Amino acid sequence: MAALTRLMKPTSTIITRRSLSTTTAAVSDIQSSLSDGKGGSSRNNFQWVFLGVPGVGKGTYASRLSSLLGVPHIATGDLVRNELASKGPLSNQLAEIVNQGKLVSDEIIFNLLSKRLEAGEAKGESGFILDGFPRTIRQAEILNEVTEIDLVVNLKLREDVLVEKCLGRRICSECGKGFNVASINAKAENGRPGMSMAPLLPPSHCASKLVTRADDTEEVVKERLRIYQEKSQPVEGFYRDLGKLMEFDLPGGIPESWPKLLEALNLDEYEVKRSAVA
Ligand code: AMP
Repeated sequence: MAALTRLMKPTSTIITRRSLSTTTAAVSDIQSSLSDGKGGSSRNNFQWVFLGVPGVGKGTYASRLSSLLGVPHIATGDLVRNELASKGPLSNQLAEIVNQGKLVSDEIIFNLLSKRLEAGEAKGESGFILDGFPRTIRQAEILNEVTEIDLVVNLKLREDVLVEKCLGRRICSECGKGFNVASINAKAENGRPGMSMAPLLPPSHCASKLVTRADDTEEVVKERLRIYQEKSQPVEGFYRDLGKLMEFDLPGGIPESWPKLLEALNLDEYEVKRSAVA
């Protein structure tokens, strides 16, 4: 538990407490910290969490916001995959769990996360956008004890589209970037509008290096969705009760969703970039 204790260390610059009581306050606070001339250091103190079922696009939007806001995007799934690839002592145990779509123990996750936060802190990072964490009520409660999360964005998408999206997911084995080869055209039904998503194709230098995640098979994706409903959906309620949850229904692919997400977050891409260079 030493690593967890390190994560809980209250003096860490990563653990910057900000006091916000409602989602609306959180969103307007983001806007004012960008525009009130507080400068670079305060601008980078966002402590956000992205929630949502597997395949919804947490990684895509968290990574875009991370570049825009200048805070690290930390995906616990990436930390687990890096650990697997390192062939370290935990690899075999982890491979079995991950390939079945099950959750890794809280202790391992806290250990990996605390190491990642410490490494970032040593490089001068501050703030974060967490993706894939917390995934259980216990993880959310511990995180809540050690730091204040400013905002939790809950991404939502129709389930039929989700499975298709997961099956089309590919990763470049060299640079680690994610792409999607699925061309989705879901029909309108039961009062829901139709939805189209163009594939997110890789540049030519990644095209020959694409791999599919071992846990992106239909069977495992369905198990991951089941586990999400059982273990992770209660986390949405946890943050809703704290007044920090911002629900966001993805209207389609990146071209439709990205501007709408920025709007919901009260962010103006041009203004954010301008304040970053000022
Ligand atoms: P992801 O890329 O977020 O879908 O994560 C891939 C896999 O890593 C998951 O299916 C879990 O086995 C494991 N994992 C990632 N984050 C967590 C977490 N917060 N708690 C437990 N297991 C996790």
